[in-house]
Amino acid sequence: MDSEDMAFDRRHIWHPYTSMTEPLPCYPVTSARGVELHLDDGRRLIDGMSSWWAAIHGYNHPAINRAVKAQLSQMSHVMFGGITHPAAVALCRQLVDITPDALECVFLADSGSVAVEVAMKMALQYWQARGNVRQRFLTLRHGYHGDTFGAMSVCDPRNSMHSLYQGYLPNHLFVDAPPCASLNNGGFSDVWQETDIAPLQAKLSAYAHEIAAVILEPIVQGAGGMRFYHPTYLRRVRELCDQWGVLLIADEIATGFGRTGKLFACEHADISPDILCLGKALTGGYMTLSATLTTRMIAETISNGEAGCFMHGPTFMGNPLACAAANACLSLLAEQRWQQQVKNIEQQLRDALHPCKDSSRVADVRVLGAIGVVETRRPVNMARLQHFFVARGVWIRPFGRLIYLMPPFIIQPDELRKLTDAVGAALHHEQHFQ
Ligand SMILES: *Cc1c(COP(=O)(O)O)cnc(C)c1O
Repeated sequence: MDSEDMAFDRRHIWHPYTSMTEPLPCYPVTSARGVELHLDDGRRLIDGMSSWWAAIHGYNHPAINRAVKAQLSQMSHVMFGGITHPAAVALCRQLVDITPDALECVFLADSGSVAVEVAMKMALQYWQARGNVRQRFLTLRHGYHGDTFGAMSVCDPRNSMHSLYQGYLPNHLFVDAPPCASLNNGGFSDVWQETDIAPLQAKLSAYAHEIAAVILEPIVQGAGGMRFYHPTYLRRVRELCDQWGVLLIADEIATGFGRTGKLFACEHADISPDILCLGKALTGGYMTLSATLTTRMIAETISNGEAGCFMHGPTFMGNPLACAAANACLSLLAEQRWQQQVKNIEQQLRDALHPCKDSSRVADVRVLGAIGVVETRRPVNMARLQHFFVARGVWIRPFGRLIYLMPPFIIQPDELRKLTDAVGAALHHEQHFQ
């Protein structure tokens, strides 16, 4: 890419959460292989982000490439209304198989945010069909569920999304998230404070008859703060939802497919949600695709309701290329190598990042599965810090007070060391902070 391309990009192209008047620097990537991003000037960066949780098997994976090419030679897309195809059937069969037993019915959509919209619409239609209209959702502060309107309405209310769209967004119910859990030696510490569930318990008992569902990210709250909480909290939420007859939606779009050390984060608490959202790593980061799974009882109740069907159907629903990538990605997970890989990453992240706690600029260090988080006391200067990381040959994209790593599972120890060394070194420089 020449300087004209870069100037065009700055002038005409919006990137995620960026300004059109003061765009932050962008780095041109022309290819990616394994755990490396290749910049167009020939430099190679070790990827610490997995392209936002997605590229768990690394880039340009031969098995996923093969699967997508094979599908391409059959058909790249066909409408899903009145038509089905082998790639979608194979994928949904795998999803039903690897998720909790009660989740039997799969809705394929095109992005994580849409999977959340679909989950919320399922809950609304479920109550509507039961003749018991419930239109509120209960959720946790620090949550993140996507950028579309329904999803935004259950994101943490303190970031600007809620104030910007106030009056337009529905008012849902929020409770304080449980405190960050401490982890000892690879496991959650045994201490569980029953008082941590009290806020949710109180809201449920006060509003149960208005609440369609509790929606939350199980165990790990991602973009809303990179926080980990105790599995007993999730277990208690499940019990309370049962007690009050409220549905539970688990948004595993970030946590799904091994990232937290379990295939799904709900397994840490041994619970099954009523509705499950999947996305991000579903295709190994190849294509955009998401899935919302629910129980037969909920699916049948919706189908027996006034509408007679579930009212959603994206144009690119069940896109065969995306399904083929997902099938290959899930087959790689089925080989089970990810478990040892994630364990090794977890151990190395813990050993390498915990010493960062000694820095006066660090508020907390947290590691779970293949996620390592250094929470700083002051917000980072993203542009400067990103430049520092790129100069050191690593791709790490911090935000707010969070410098975090979630590398592809295939990363080797020396590559991971480059990432953790860069994080440690970044903390020494005053100019990296606001
Ligand atoms: C990323 C994310 C979403 C939104 O997914 P998109 O594909 O970006 O629309 C929803 N929920 C969680 C937990 C996420 O991490």
